[in-house]
Amino acid sequence: MTVKSRHIHINGIVQGVGFRPFIYNLALAHGLTGWVRNSSSGVDIEVTGSNREVEKFIEAIPISAPVLAQVDSLETREIPIIEFDGFNIVASEDQQNDFIPVSPDVAICQQCHEELFDPGDRRFRYPFINCTNCGPRFSIIKEIPYDRPLTTMAEFKMCPDCQTEYENPQDRRFHAQPVACPDCGPQVWFEGQPGVVHSEKETAIQAARRYLADGKILAIKGLGGFHLACDATNPSAVAALRSRKHRQAKPFALMAYDLDTIRNYVRITPAAEHLLLSPQAPIVLLPEKPHTNLAENVAPGQANLGFMLPYTPLHLLLLEPQDGYPKVLVMTSGNLAEEPIIREDEQARSKLSGIADGYLLHNRPIHMRIDDSVYTFIDEKPYPIRRARGYAPNPIRLPLPAPQILAVGPQMKNTFCLTREKYAFLSHHIGEMDNWETYEDFQKAIRHYESLFRIKPEAIAYDLHPDYQSTRYALERAQAERLPAFPVQHHHAHLAAGMIENGLIPDEPAAGLIFDGTGFGSDGTIWGGEVLVGNCEDYTRPYHLKPVPLPGGDIAIQKPARMALSTLWSYGLDWSEDLLPLQALSSEERQALRNQLAKGINAPLTSSMGRLFDAVSALLGVRQTVSYEAQGAIELETLAAGPETGYYPWQIDQQEINLKPMLEMLLADLARNISTPVIAARFHNTIAELALDLAQRIRSEMGIHQIVLSGGVWQNQILLKKTINLFNTHGIKPLLHRQTPPNDGCVAFGQAMIAVYRYQNIKE
Ligand code: ZN
Ligand code: ZN
Ligand code: FE
Repeated sequence: MTVKSRHIHINGIVQGVGFRPFIYNLALAHGLTGWVRNSSSGVDIEVTGSNREVEKFIEAIPISAPVLAQVDSLETREIPIIEFDGFNIVASEDQQNDFIPVSPDVAICQQCHEELFDPGDRRFRYPFINCTNCGPRFSIIKEIPYDRPLTTMAEFKMCPDCQTEYENPQDRRFHAQPVACPDCGPQVWFEGQPGVVHSEKETAIQAARRYLADGKILAIKGLGGFHLACDATNPSAVAALRSRKHRQAKPFALMAYDLDTIRNYVRITPAAEHLLLSPQAPIVLLPEKPHTNLAENVAPGQANLGFMLPYTPLHLLLLEPQDGYPKVLVMTSGNLAEEPIIREDEQARSKLSGIADGYLLHNRPIHMRIDDSVYTFIDEKPYPIRRARGYAPNPIRLPLPAPQILAVGPQMKNTFCLTREKYAFLSHHIGEMDNWETYEDFQKAIRHYESLFRIKPEAIAYDLHPDYQSTRYALERAQAERLPAFPVQHHHAHLAAGMIENGLIPDEPAAGLIFDGTGFGSDGTIWGGEVLVGNCEDYTRPYHLKPVPLPGGDIAIQKPARMALSTLWSYGLDWSEDLLPLQALSSEERQALRNQLAKGINAPLTSSMGRLFDAVSALLGVRQTVSYEAQGAIELETLAAGPETGYYPWQIDQQEINLKPMLEMLLADLARNISTPVIAARFHNTIAELALDLAQRIRSEMGIHQIVLSGGVWQNQILLKKTINLFNTHGIKPLLHRQTPPNDGCVAFGQAMIAVYRYQNIKE
């Protein structure tokens, strides 16, 4: 028998996912001796054994690795024969400058779920049960390597029983860093008044359940932050939450105990079922069923409801089925308005005291706040709307190695992105940067990612918009650290993100239909209804919507009525007295608007597709003012679900898309009292047909067959489905966002891809 020794190095998600015990058991099964150890750049293994068994061992690693592991690369080299004493798991070694991906937080696994409700288990009803396959990760990690002293679990000393499990390679809790039990781990308590303990442990959970059953609102400390919760079938509880949170109509996310409960409210396909049950456990937007017992004010004007399953043991205990207790909870972010989700007890007590009737708290600190992720489905495949818990900080794999670059992202729905080697670490959803708390959170999170992944940016990418907080941060930092800084046009970033995540290479020519809300254009106007052709180096803008004034700037976004009248005005169409947007304005407002438009005062031009949807929603009387972003467009989409196939004409003059023919026909339909759902459907059909026309022009003029669909408007599922159908029947391939959201959540990734390309070019 020939004996040999091998050194093996593995890169990927291999820490905190049960990888070392897996290697340990695999080595024993093959009769090998040696060791395995976490290093800050992955996992190192050395083995000695028969030639055949060593080879079989290596082959088995990627094939039978644990569910949560991801093997990105596996390198082996022959080493001089070493005689080991058995097989051992040895202590971690930290090497400066190396890095490994960090696991996202993972929903409770099936085995832990069963133990939670098993009266014979020593963790029976313990709200922090977890194992190597599940539990908190990213939200509790302070530094790498991922070991307990560097997490927020450091303050909990393991009891002898937990220690034994932790040290036994054959145990499911071997080296599960957050391992804990009722004797040694974190505990929950309930406060009726902020700061006054009402009850602890099981009694606290029952008190919280009683409060919810009584229609009260709770602040609940979860995995990545606080939720505000109430009974979703109780309209007055939901109404109280809305008025206290000053959230008029924006839909609330829901949580139900199990799939069967969710099925009572929405239609679930097998693919959706799979996603709901996945370790990521996101909120999934699903088509609402009619006539349920859900309070109508949970998600007014929406065709879809956002549901998630309980992803922590605490959630399972809260929702445990029992007569007289709520089966579905509203679980919305615990925050004020657009501020970041709260993660600290003290902040919750002070900031949420005007909203919550009680607080369910625990003493496991949250190091990094992270929101729930939101997904929907297109073509039976997941389509990201908000990428956060369960996904971040998993990197996006790049086609080529990248230098270390920071891209700071946009102002709204901010994420940032750091690149290194073949990875792009797109951050979790940071949020709306126009408030100070989010901006602070953004800076803290950038430093945290840089430290976790050992990235020291060599260059910075930022949005062309001079007033974005992220732009200011980028310019200040570039100056302080003397780094090259690359401004990136907002919609160019959308295009680049869509290209690269669909596997195109950075200098391949591509085209995109970027239908978006707002982005600063290279000509100083506001863009958003664009056809861009280019690659990661540069772009041209062959077609765009004819720009119309945005009278009053942001006020026009909050008041679609203004947008409707401005659009008609700029196309030379009269404001007839029977127009609903006109009736929505006082006579002073009408006069002010006329003046603003005639003189061009505070009326920047925009080619935004998002604003066109707002304008049409106002013309149809859907929304004259909105209480959350894109409310008019979303409610218009809800109306457009019918079978109507007609559409309106348009015209393309040089580079400008002229919608006057469409608007004239739409006004004529209104005058003839054609029903709103029919007009809404015709409008959606028109935009899908327009998308096809533009794609066909790009194909015949430039020979490009693959078209990226990016921008917030592509969250509109009716529009997207109609467009995909048209593309498919005409041999054009739509490239959809699948790893990053089509909205501004993708912008940082696109900025990074463009900056990587430009930076490498100047270095050469
Ligand atoms: Zn588990
Ligand atoms: Zn214990
Ligand atoms: Fe955008």
